Amino acid sequence: MGPMDGERPLDPSRAAAAEAFLESLAELGLDRLPRAVHQPAEAPESTESEVAEPGPRLEQLNARIEACRLCALGETRRCSVPGEGSARARVMFVGEAPGAQEDASGRPFVGPAGQLLTKIIENGMGLSREEVFIANVLKCRPPQNRDPQTEEKKLCTPFLQEQMEIIAPELVIALGKHAANHLLGRESSLGRLRGRLHQPAQGGPPVLATYHPAYLLRNPADKRACWQDIQMGMDHLGLKRPSRASGGQTGTPTPAPPSQENGRPQEGKHRW
Ligand code: SF4
Repeated sequence: MGPMDGERPLDPSRAAAAEAFLESLAELGLDRLPRAVHQPAEAPESTESEVAEPGPRLEQLNARIEACRLCALGETRRCSVPGEGSARARVMFVGEAPGAQEDASGRPFVGPAGQLLTKIIENGMGLSREEVFIANVLKCRPPQNRDPQTEEKKLCTPFLQEQMEIIAPELVIALGKHAANHLLGRESSLGRLRGRLHQPAQGGPPVLATYHPAYLLRNPADKRACWQDIQMGMDHLGLKRPSRASGGQTGTPTPAPPSQENGRPQEGKHRW
C-alpha cells in the first residue's frame, strides 16, 4: 500500500518493522491495532528531532538570510554571509560585518584577517575552524566597508540572536570594539572591555572581547594581549593551554587550570 496523501512515506526499515508487528497481531487473532498504538501522544520521532536538530535549523536560517532584503545592504551585496562552522560549536566568534572577500565568497573571515583568525583558532586554541562558529553582526557587506548604520544592525541582529539560540555556545568572543559593544549593548572602549568575561544583560553566553584580527595585522604588538584574552576564553571552556613540549597542540578539554594571577591569565608566547 502506498502512503496516504499528505503522509510521509515510511523508510524501509520502519515499514518492515511495522509489517512484522501486524503479522504478530494477526497470529494472535487481532484484526485491528490495539488502542494504545493509535494514541497520538507524540509526533513522529524523526519529524521532532529534525526540527530540533541545530544543523537543519541553521540551514533554514541561512536560506532566510540569503533571501533577506530588510535593509538596503540586501541590494548592494554580492553574497550574504550568514556565518559558518559547527552547529554545535562551544565557542562562537563574532565580528562586525563582512568585507570585500567575504562578500565575494559568501564566507566569513576569509581574507588576511580571516587567515589570522584561523591561526588563532588552530595554532592557539588547538581547535579546527570547523569546530567553532564564525559570524558577523551584519550578514551583508556595507559598501566600501563603511561603518554599519544603527538601523542596519537593528534589522539584522535577530539573525545573530537566532544563530546563538540554535548553537547555544558556551562562550562568544567578540572581535573588535564594535562587535563587543553591540553584543553587550553599551558604548565603551575595547581597552575597558577586554580582560574579563561579560554576562550580557539580555542573557545568553558570556562574552569575551578582544582585538579584531584586521587590527592585529596592523598592530602585531597587540597579539600578545589578544593571546591573553584567548587563553582566558580557553580556561572558561576547559581547554588545555599549549605547552612547548606538545608543539602547541591544544584543545583537549580538561578541568579549568588555576591559571590566573591577580584575575589575569598568565602570559605565554602566542604561536600565531
Ligand atoms: S544586512 Fe541583514 S537585514 Fe540587511 S539585508 Fe542583509 S541579512 Fe537582511
